[in-house]
Amino acid sequence: MSIAKQLYQLQEVELEIESSEQALRQIDSQLGENQAVVRVQTKLALEQQRLEELRGQQHSAEWEIDDITSKLTTAEEELYSGRIRNPKELTSLQHEVDGLRVKRDQLEDKALEVMEQVELAAASVASVSSELKTVEAEWHSQQQQLSTEMEQLKAILADLKHKQQLLLAGIDPQPVEFYYQLKKQRGQAVAKVEQGICRGCRISLPTAEVQRARSGNLVQCSSCGRILFLP
Ligand SMILES: [Zn+2]
Repeated sequence: MSIAKQLYQLQEVELEIESSEQALRQIDSQLGENQAVVRVQTKLALEQQRLEELRGQQHSAEWEIDDITSKLTTAEEELYSGRIRNPKELTSLQHEVDGLRVKRDQLEDKALEVMEQVELAAASVASVSSELKTVEAEWHSQQQQLSTEMEQLKAILADLKHKQQLLLAGIDPQPVEFYYQLKKQRGQAVAKVEQGICRGCRISLPTAEVQRARSGNLVQCSSCGRILFLP
């Protein structure tokens, strides 16, 4: 096998190694990443807090109503007991009863409003809770999938590195060193020649150059300097 072909094979394996390593890094950054879950958890905590506040408001409204109702009952009993005969006192008591009734009605309206808000907030908590369950389930299955992909990629990578070692063991050290120098400079050290054109720089090569490369010699492209490989 020509040296150019061996180096080309090495390059192919190394390109695969690089892209596998890139994919591994990406999976690594996604593993344990749970922003979506945290976002819904925060949303749920806020909704739960709001529900608790509203329930607190509901209870105080109910206590206030109980308080006013008992005051009203006492005042009404007094008013209709027949014990008070003084017209001035009666009028004053009547006013007190009227005032307490208005206040009770107002409080009942307010309690009703708060109750409706409590119901809405409770529905919201239920819906965000179920959203959280969905997001968490998705996250778990995504993490599992990522772990599986990672294991597969690691196995592929180990295989590729083994291939790379085998290839390196079969090539003389000098051309290997030259290959890595070129790789450092150009990104890719070996260029395929197709229809007389260097695929590295897309320049049409002189026929003599192509022939020398075909004969198995290590020939560099006169334009980009890459090692020419004729498939
Ligand atoms: Zn070239």
